[in-house]
Amino acid sequence: KAELFGRFASRNAQTKDGARIIAAANIGSAADAEDSLKKGAEAVGLFRTEQVYLSTKSLPDENAQFEVYRKVAECFGSKEVIVRTLDVGGDKEIKYLGIEKETNPFLGYRAIRYCLDRKEIFLTQLRAILRASAFGRLAVMFPMISGMQELAAAKTMVEEAKEQLRGKGEPFDESIRIGMMVEIPSAALMASALAKEADFFSVGTNDLVQYTLAVDRGNEKVSYLYDYFDPAVIRLIRLTADAASSAGIPMGMCGAMAGDPLAVPLLVGLGLSELSMAAGSLAQTKYILSRLDTGSCRELAEKSDRCRNATEVRSLLQEYFETEI
Ligand code: PEP
Ligand code: MG
Repeated sequence: KAELFGRFASRNAQTKDGARIIAAANIGSAADAEDSLKKGAEAVGLFRTEQVYLSTKSLPDENAQFEVYRKVAECFGSKEVIVRTLDVGGDKEIKYLGIEKETNPFLGYRAIRYCLDRKEIFLTQLRAILRASAFGRLAVMFPMISGMQELAAAKTMVEEAKEQLRGKGEPFDESIRIGMMVEIPSAALMASALAKEADFFSVGTNDLVQYTLAVDRGNEKVSYLYDYFDPAVIRLIRLTADAASSAGIPMGMCGAMAGDPLAVPLLVGLGLSELSMAAGSLAQTKYILSRLDTGSCRELAEKSDRCRNATEVRSLLQEYFETEI
């Protein structure tokens, strides 16, 4: 199997009937970027920049961040790198930021909420990303967007950072794409409105599952309830995908579901155009994609809509996998 998959690592991901799906990597550093390219990444669907902040003892300044983002941009050249702005809080603690302990950290002061409150920290990061965009093909993605106001406020900050750079004569990609993660149920429910204001969506199933099913993603006592094959989660993904398609924007996925072989036919059937995952899963995913017919994936997605629980979804997908792949 490893040998079979290996042959697919360097190819572009494509279904049997010729639909291009981008097989992208999740990374957290410049070293990850290099490694993922070797393993066949066609893009970066999620650069978790909190890893950059976690690797330093104090807040990294604009230049320090710029150097990292530039390295990654250059490494990927004409291939797109989606840089997610700081996603701190919840399960991601950065000590020197001094965020107070909260009773419900996953529902609290985190990610885009923190950045919209700590504007200097946010602007510093945005300037660093924008400057690096002159060296490759970067896109900006906001984490934990819960609704229209947050998206608008975050976009305003990007405009402000651009204005600051123009003032200093610093070059950057004027048409840099700005997208958002869909990882909160309210965002999925409002996807048709959000799609008019975003250049792309990327579904974060790790958090979407947690918030949809009210199951802490790190609590083993309730992990039996944590399942991205729950039909409630799939309905939210479908709603988001349909909204993206109506608005004509691309939609990817960067949560763990995207790297699950069983999920790939369903995600293709729902209309996703990019799957972003741990680099180790890329070759296998490309192989699976090469075995798929988009029409039959669409039928599979339709069928999954009639499932009443995760067990039914799983057996439907299992059966499909055994007969088609
Ligand atoms: C997600 O929530 O699915 C995601 C990709 O982001 P993270 O795991 O970093 O929260
Ligand atoms: Mg998340």
